[in-house]
Amino acid sequence: MNIQSALKKGQLILRSKNIKTAELDSQILMSKAINKEKLFLILNYDEKISKKSLNDFNTLIDKRANGEPIAYLTNKKYFWNYEFIVNKDVLIPRPDTEVLVEKVLELAKNKNRLNVLDIGIGSGCILLSILMEKKNFYGTGVDISSKSLNICKINSHKLGLINRVKLFKSDIDNFNHGKYDLIISNPPYIKKYDLKCLEKDIVDFEPKRALDGGISGLSEIRKVIDKSSELIKKKGFLILEIGFDQKRNVKKILNDKGFYIKEIVKDLASNVRCIISVKI
Ligand code: GLN
Repeated sequence: MNIQSALKKGQLILRSKNIKTAELDSQILMSKAINKEKLFLILNYDEKISKKSLNDFNTLIDKRANGEPIAYLTNKKYFWNYEFIVNKDVLIPRPDTEVLVEKVLELAKNKNRLNVLDIGIGSGCILLSILMEKKNFYGTGVDISSKSLNICKINSHKLGLINRVKLFKSDIDNFNHGKYDLIISNPPYIKKYDLKCLEKDIVDFEPKRALDGGISGLSEIRKVIDKSSELIKKKGFLILEIGFDQKRNVKKILNDKGFYIKEIVKDLASNVRCIISVKI
């Protein structure tokens, strides 16, 4: 079979499962199966593919047809300006989360040396993107999952940041290390009973622990704010990703813990996504 007919076949299978990006996904999975750039496919439609590559391609198509996200099948995802390694141990970086990076860079424009803490660091996409842009910043990441810390370590290596990042396996409640100028977090904030309403690709494959914010959706956010109020320096910034309907509740928790609200930021779809506060 040549590349073109295999691609078409893959595309048809994905389309039959209502996958909207069937053509693109088929191309991405083919380029993974034959280990070549996407451009190669277009220029070599007539080239025959080996039995082994075809098998690999079919397996990937079946997995995608079953809802597995492309990022987990290719083990990579672009975020900000960089490519991150991902697997099922970490949440896939969302384009909407890039607003956090953008805001941090804006706030820290004239700052030289800052200590930044990322609570629930996952793949590392937020903290590592910031460190890539700010050569004198130092980062600390905490996560409850040692598997996700492994992925973060791989990403730190890949980006040449290993000397500026310290990673700790800990529940945030039990983390008492250091004082920070800036704390960032994208904590789990989906209400427990809403989890099953998320898209199938998310529910079936992404780590529940990174999404489940308890019955109110606020339990992890509350822990992050409580602990941040101890770990942050006076006048330090706390930048949180939150759900579109959590602004009022989170504002209250922040105020109670001695933070004032500096700015509420919307995402690409104009939903509230990020809240920036300052420790008084
Ligand atoms: N934004 C993510 C989603 O929509 C949720 C991330 C989180 O809970 N921190 O799936």
